Amino acid sequence: MSVLVYIENTEGILKKSAFEAASYGKEIAGLLNTEAIAIAIGDVSASELQKLGNYGIAKVLHVNKDNLKNFVNQAYAALVAAAAKQENAEIVVLSNTFSGKGLAPRIAAKLNAGLVAGATAVPSFDGHTLKVTKTAFSNKAIATVSLDAPVKVLSINPNAFSAKEAPTTATIVDFTADLTEADFGTLVKDIVRATDKIALPEAEIVVSAGRGLKGPENWAMVEDLAEVLGAATACSKPVSDAGWRPHAEHVGQTGIVVSPNLYIAIGISGAIQHLAGVSSSKTIVVINKDPEAPFFKVADYGIVGDAFEVVPKLIEALKNHKGI
Ligand code: FAD
Repeated sequence: MSVLVYIENTEGILKKSAFEAASYGKEIAGLLNTEAIAIAIGDVSASELQKLGNYGIAKVLHVNKDNLKNFVNQAYAALVAAAAKQENAEIVVLSNTFSGKGLAPRIAAKLNAGLVAGATAVPSFDGHTLKVTKTAFSNKAIATVSLDAPVKVLSINPNAFSAKEAPTTATIVDFTADLTEADFGTLVKDIVRATDKIALPEAEIVVSAGRGLKGPENWAMVEDLAEVLGAATACSKPVSDAGWRPHAEHVGQTGIVVSPNLYIAIGISGAIQHLAGVSSSKTIVVINKDPEAPFFKVADYGIVGDAFEVVPKLIEALKNHKGI
């Protein structure tokens, strides 16, 4: 028996969410008194994979083939399922990211497993029945799900579980499995990155702005604040609908769901559809000139004031604090 963790990389660099998944898998393995094994696919160096040892992973299966350099949903799912069978995995852990969302159900179907997508905490066990909490109804509720299938697949929300150091030495083992033509039915031919800035779903800090900013010409202060904080930028739906910002920045029920440690909302009213995508943020700071804005009800800190006065002062104070 083991716990198998699928480890994502971007162009050979392991993602922050991958270390979180590794730690999450290690924690579950500890509860089951077994080991956590990782599987990574793609062109990742041994030294990069060995970083998983810092999080208690002693064995890393590595698949490195030219036709698997880019994410191929069916083929990756087949490989993870084959690895789970080889390692007799009772639990398969993934990150609930863009690729994790595609992979988890496929892996569960191949393994005839129970699936919880979007877990928020370490599960509890009653024998081999597992209980795990997950976000539900666009983050408006938390569900507790019981799984008693012999094999379980769990995907953990990014930022829901912090990576914990548990140093050991990771051994890298080459892994392969038989793949069919059908596994390559859908191919990613090219990846064009919209931006080289911090990826929104992974960001620890998000600076987001809404219609209160009046127009796209006023976004420089949002970008300045994001830069000084090392944050990703986001926006409300009407802002991206109006073309003030790219659609990739739209957060909410119909956009990206984020759960950063800090979410700063500037000139956003806090409509329920917006909150659906941001309410699992650990700390929410709201800047709005209307003291009755609904966003203040869910804010940890609120500043009632004009964004055009507050934000430049905030940037100046942060720059002074950082000595830049
Ligand atoms: P507004 O509601 O216009 O609010 C602007 C805010 O800025 C106000 O609170 C105002 O007090 C404040 N303000 C104005 N001037 C200043 C100033 N100078 N300084 C400080 N504050 C100022 N929305 C999303 O964001 N994401 C979604 O995914 C989403 N999905 C939706 C799905 C459906 C089916 C529907 C019907 C709607 C959806 N919406 C979504 C839209 C949502 O209902 C709201 O209309 C939208 O979130 C409002 O955007 P906003 O807060 O930027 O603008």
